[in-house]
Amino acid sequence: MANEEVVRELLGLRDRVVNSTILTPSKHLNLSARVSLDTFLIGTKGGAMDLDENSFALVNLDAEVLEGSVEPTNAEILTMHAAVYSNLETANCVLHTHSPHATAFALAHKEIPSRYEALLRFGQASPVPVAKWGPRGSKESIEGIVDAIKADNTIKGVLLANHGVLVFGSSVSETASIAFAIEEAAAAELAAAALGGGVDFPEGALQRVRESMARVRH
Ligand SMILES: [Zn+2]
Repeated sequence: MANEEVVRELLGLRDRVVNSTILTPSKHLNLSARVSLDTFLIGTKGGAMDLDENSFALVNLDAEVLEGSVEPTNAEILTMHAAVYSNLETANCVLHTHSPHATAFALAHKEIPSRYEALLRFGQASPVPVAKWGPRGSKESIEGIVDAIKADNTIKGVLLANHGVLVFGSSVSETASIAFAIEEAAAAELAAAALGGGVDFPEGALQRVRESMARVRH
């Protein structure tokens, strides 16, 4: 796929996310998409509304900028995106937001249970885990993300402790859907808490989803 087409897709993702309720009032996000085995295009600005077709840079998996330039405040996120692509070959798009309900779980260091049907549709049949906190872009924060992926390479997202959420899908469009499903799951869990708490799927249901995802992958 030509880079221009990937940029168009990423701007489309930005529009879908901005028109949803998964962003905080600041509209902060960062997003990228893989363009080859070892390169990806990433938005060079942290404000969703500041991105246009000229605000994407080509970066390799060592987080080195090959084309374009990245604002200093955004340079520290390159390693976070590169770490996902390096450690998860099925990831073709990465989206980071501070989605309010998911971020509540991240602040509380509580994983989001997998008991909302929409999560299963995208193969998220295990809880969305919490990656340990480290300063933005630091070695510790990257380690937390990589550890979570290594512990379970079927996960589609990870909560960043005291920060927000990082979502990764096999396509740009799937990544938006997963981001919505994770935020919806978090909101529903919090609402269900007032009714005595969410209830798990029946015994064996998640295992069946995991098995069918494994068949798709092989
Ligand atoms: Zn953030």
